[in-house]
Amino acid sequence: MIIVLFGKPGAGKGTQAPLLAAALGVPTLATGDELRAAIRAGSPLGLEAKSYMDRGDLVPDSVILGIIKQALSEQRNAGGVLLDGVVRTVPQAEGLDKVVVELGKKVEAVLAFDIDDEEIVRRLASRTVCESCQTPYTGREPGTACDKCGGTLIRRKDDEPEAIRNRLEVYDRQTAPVLDWYRSHGTKVAVIDAVGPVQDVTARALGVLAS
Ligand SMILES: [Zn+2]
Repeated sequence: MIIVLFGKPGAGKGTQAPLLAAALGVPTLATGDELRAAIRAGSPLGLEAKSYMDRGDLVPDSVILGIIKQALSEQRNAGGVLLDGVVRTVPQAEGLDKVVVELGKKVEAVLAFDIDDEEIVRRLASRTVCESCQTPYTGREPGTACDKCGGTLIRRKDDEPEAIRNRLEVYDRQTAPVLDWYRSHGTKVAVIDAVGPVQDVTARALGVLAS
């Protein structure tokens, strides 16, 4: 059982991934973690990845997919896995498809956590962070004082409405073609409504996977 996760910025994928993994009894496999592990282990692909990073270059898809292939063939991932951040583009979806076919596996489903854009703008714009101790707050105005240290709460640049709309546009532009690619290749694609209590969203995702 291989499940590919997508999440609109602010839709709570980071919260849902471990909850889903626990409910399904499978690990989460994230590109960044596997890349760091391969580099730490000094595997041939890890060293190759490091040589790109040391030059300040992006690690090519072929190297990333090689690392993912290795991880998928390990015993800890034999019972299935949630892939988080592994596929962002159509070429990566195609590359992953080749890898899983070579391993005699398949992508069972694609889950995309979705939420109304204006709801995301509201949600993220209500976040502030203490400029001194970095404690995050929800629903507090910028300029008010931190409860912990008395520092000033600020809104991160990333959470400004304009910046959020920009990230949402990038997500749509990148993700929509990937979801279409999976649909046209017969993979179940479920768009999960991510509005509401965390446990309700998890239940929705599990419901879709069971159906
Ligand atoms: Zn503070």
